Amino acid sequence: MARAGWQVTVHEAEETIGGGVRSAELTLPGFMHDVCSAIHPLGRDSPFFRELELPIEWIQPPAPAAHPLDDGTAVMLERSFLETAERLGEDRGRYLSVFHRVVSGWRDFEPVVLGPYPPSPRRLVSAFDLSLARMGLAGARSLAERKFKTGRARALFAGNAAHSMLPLERRPSGGVGLFLIATAHTYGWGFPRGGSQRLADALAGRLQELGGEIRTDSPVDELPRADAVLADVVPRELLRIAGNHFPARYAQALQRYRHGPGVFKLDWALDGPIPWAADECGRAGTVHLGGTLEEIAASERAPWHGRHAERPFVLLAQPSLFDDSRAPAGKHTAWAYCHVPNGCRDDMTDRIEAQVERFAPGFRDLILGKTASGPADFERRNRNIVGGDINGGAIDLGQLLFRPVRKRVPYRTPLRGLYICSSSTPPGGGVHGMSGYSAASVALRDLT
Ligand SMILES: Cc1cc2nc3c(=O)[nH]c(=O)nc-3n(C[C@H](O)[C@H](O)[C@H](O)COP(=O)(O)OP(=O)(O)OC[C@H]3O[C@@H](n4cnc5c(N)ncnc54)[C@H](O)[C@@H]3O)c2cc1C
Repeated sequence: MARAGWQVTVHEAEETIGGGVRSAELTLPGFMHDVCSAIHPLGRDSPFFRELELPIEWIQPPAPAAHPLDDGTAVMLERSFLETAERLGEDRGRYLSVFHRVVSGWRDFEPVVLGPYPPSPRRLVSAFDLSLARMGLAGARSLAERKFKTGRARALFAGNAAHSMLPLERRPSGGVGLFLIATAHTYGWGFPRGGSQRLADALAGRLQELGGEIRTDSPVDELPRADAVLADVVPRELLRIAGNHFPARYAQALQRYRHGPGVFKLDWALDGPIPWAADECGRAGTVHLGGTLEEIAASERAPWHGRHAERPFVLLAQPSLFDDSRAPAGKHTAWAYCHVPNGCRDDMTDRIEAQVERFAPGFRDLILGKTASGPADFERRNRNIVGGDINGGAIDLGQLLFRPVRKRVPYRTPLRGLYICSSSTPPGGGVHGMSGYSAASVALRDLT
């Protein structure tokens, strides 16, 4: 909006800007941790951020992800599509055939999955053939079992699909796995040197250069007086702010919006790098800890039944291996979380650490300091993280296609000039700026 010449004011409820894109010394002095997001496949390369050319030094770990197994080896998700396939033995050809279409056709695929949204029918048709559409809408488990023969390829796929926070039997968890693996091969899974906060600060800097203003400690409790309001809030908050102005049907539709599981997260200050049994894990920015497809599937089903797994699937990031600004010399940081029932108050510290220890014996001896954050902590610091749901709402099939309500242009609300633009709108969770970008494009079309 500012680039189009509008006078923009950002109101942030918290003391600091950034929302899910912040960093802080959460454990010990000199150890810089990412409070929420850590790895940013779309942080440099989403269509919006690409345009902005922000002054950020991006770090690309040699391998996007590693998936260690109990035999002391790891399945590697490499930057290179061919190299990843080469290392899958019997499943080499199958991996190539599953991912070839999406990786080589990424240019067509990207605007449909990321936006600007809604995509034109012409774009939809050129991006998807029937088989890709089927895979994109499938459950991860059936897709992995149908497409791959080896436990290694199935485990690799399951670890990526589990980012969906859906049971792996449920649609479209398979599509999320396909999408994430494709981003590893097209963009890489990088992150800003110095931490996620650098991205938020760079965005703030760009806005201020354009004459925009940012007010922190400025919670919005009622509709501000403005020609346009772009609300980066979840449906519950939109209802709180503007609910009594909405027609009953729209308000009821927002009330029906569903949140998914929450997360329980640990940040560690470490006395050295994590001693992975499979050395190759040290080449990866992200490590998926959960063993086999079957084990990950059980872990991801549990939160939907109000339980947590005894051996939860853990997503771990180890940025200090590639960014020496994060910790004092020779020391390291690590970030990890697992999925828990929405709003759950259980302490998952021991279970998460046991999963790291399982694949990196001796890990616990390196811990110098740690901080734990559960769903209530996240929600207290950011009202967009309802019950710990980091995706701004479940990405089940209904809410993938219609987010947050069943409307062709979901950013528009019934009030002229009021738009919703958080991750509760397409394309959903993740740090990409595309929800706001699409909403702003719609607002500019409507109002100018
Ligand atoms: C633990 C965790 C790990 C994650 N890991 C990753 C990752 O590695 N990679 C990735 O891409 N994504 C990750 N994410 C997801 C990512 O952070 C979110 O999808 C993204 O930040 C959502 O952007 P948003 O603008 O919708 O909301 P947010 O980033 O949450 O921003 C919303 C802002 O609005 C403010 N706000 C809300 N209501 C009001 C109000 N009424 N008045 C004033 N201000 C208000 C909030 O305080 C907040 O600052 C993670 C999230 C969490 C919590």
